[in-house]
Amino acid sequence: MIVSTLQDLSLIDARCGISVFRKIDVPILGIVENMAHFVCTTCGTAHPILGEIARPGVPFLGAIPQTMELRRASDRGQPVTAMDPDGALRRAYCDLANRVAAALADTPSQATEGRAVP
Ligand SMILES: [Zn+2]
Repeated sequence: MIVSTLQDLSLIDARCGISVFRKIDVPILGIVENMAHFVCTTCGTAHPILGEIARPGVPFLGAIPQTMELRRASDRGQPVTAMDPDGALRRAYCDLANRVAAALADTPSQATEGRAVP
């Protein structure tokens, strides 16, 4: 799973990692866009932090916004999903978790290959 912000430099690193993983046959579940947009504390709108980007050619797993609530909770070490069980942040993380679970279900596991799974 590749996690990247949408800045050019981060995406260059992500593309480099994807290229290396493909060369050595490491399965790639997809990419998570971290700090994909900023949820404004004034108007509540999700403002894009950057303009249109060229996504690497891997499945999209999710976009986690940057919010003041997330920043404060992270600084305190509190899981934002537990603090705001009905909020947009929780939905973003749950959507991401569901896509990761689906991608894992479609990916053969090297860890269990040739072994009996209890
Ligand atoms: Zn605003």
